[in-house]
Amino acid sequence: MDIAIYDFPKNHANHPEYLKYLIFGALKAKTIIPENGTLLPLMEEFYTIQGEGFNSGKAAYFIRLGGCDVGCHWCDVKESWDAELHPLTPTQTIADNADKFPGKSVVVTGGEPLLYNLDELTKQLKAKGIATFIETSGAYPLSGYWDWICLSPKKFKAPRKDIAPFANELKVIVFNKSDFLWAEEHAEMVSPNCKLYLQPEWSKSAEMTPLIIEYVMNNPKWEISLQTHKFLNIP
Ligand code: SF4
Repeated sequence: MDIAIYDFPKNHANHPEYLKYLIFGALKAKTIIPENGTLLPLMEEFYTIQGEGFNSGKAAYFIRLGGCDVGCHWCDVKESWDAELHPLTPTQTIADNADKFPGKSVVVTGGEPLLYNLDELTKQLKAKGIATFIETSGAYPLSGYWDWICLSPKKFKAPRKDIAPFANELKVIVFNKSDFLWAEEHAEMVSPNCKLYLQPEWSKSAEMTPLIIEYVMNNPKWEISLQTHKFLNIP
């Protein structure tokens, strides 16, 4: 199933996805995101420091893909939700851009990046010697070749159970007290080697951080993750 609607590149007449669009009569669609992941809706890309979780402090190129239907009410990138607002970009271009920077790590995030087939993007990044990290809610099937998978499950659209065993890192955002139970439920699904993080939701940080500190001290399998990039005032 193709995923969304978009404007095709100018020379689209012979594009196989455009032909499919014509054949299947998707008349309401302006463009279809191809299943093979050769074009992706790119919201933004930038070189910065990973601010949170296990890879915090490392230089990394961020690739933010548009599109998300998880619907977290506290989401700080709501402008990512509508995939149509973000230009379909050749995967090759994205990988080439990532390769221009000295830090050879990429964080693929969103939105929800697993809405799309990420095999092609990660294959091209790895061919350039770039380490591939993903941040996902786990709500969609896993695709791509990853050096690090950060699973951040959201109550608004629970993760697929088949993703949890592949997570290198479980990062639970704590918005209220009930999120500790949510965190424990998901800690039972991941592998024994998976790193476990509790991270205060930014707007509730003053209220939740003291609770997280106490929780981690009493349950030391968990660690605290902070959004250090927001303290550093970097993207
Ligand atoms: Fe926002 Fe991420 Fe939640 Fe989607 S999954 S609504 S991008 S916080």
